[in-house]
Amino acid sequence: MNAELDELYQQVLLDHAKRPRNFGEIAEGAVHVHGDNPSCGDEIHLHVRFGEDRGVEEIKFTGHGCAISLASASLMTMKLRGRTAAEATALATALRELVTTEVAEPTAALGDLRVLGGVRKFPQRVKCAMLPWRAFEQAQAGNAGSGRVSTEA
Ligand code: ZN
Repeated sequence: MNAELDELYQQVLLDHAKRPRNFGEIAEGAVHVHGDNPSCGDEIHLHVRFGEDRGVEEIKFTGHGCAISLASASLMTMKLRGRTAAEATALATALRELVTTEVAEPTAALGDLRVLGGVRKFPQRVKCAMLPWRAFEQAQAGNAGSGRVSTEA
């Protein structure tokens, strides 16, 4: 990756960390998952309302954490809202691949999420980037109520 692109990615990341999008709660009908990353101190509370077909109708988050975890959560909510269950699963898989393996061509569908690719060199940061996504996968798996997920589990 050239330096200019690297800098652009940093800016996108910091912008989302400073001004997270979709930060807040969902009033009704949401599944809540508390994501915990004790090694960094990130705590992401994910709120998702699924449609009848398990598509992502609404998705928001609250909590606190480092720049990587907040940017990942912010970008994730933007990317997942309005997706079908299959699209959301595919994006979660592509993101996991992006941050854990050396991929020559990141899946284009990831869009701005590709800024997270740089974390793969830093295992501790991979946990931060994955935290909101692990919470989302937990939300997808559960039918109602609340769940918990931890990077240490
Ligand atoms: Zn973190």
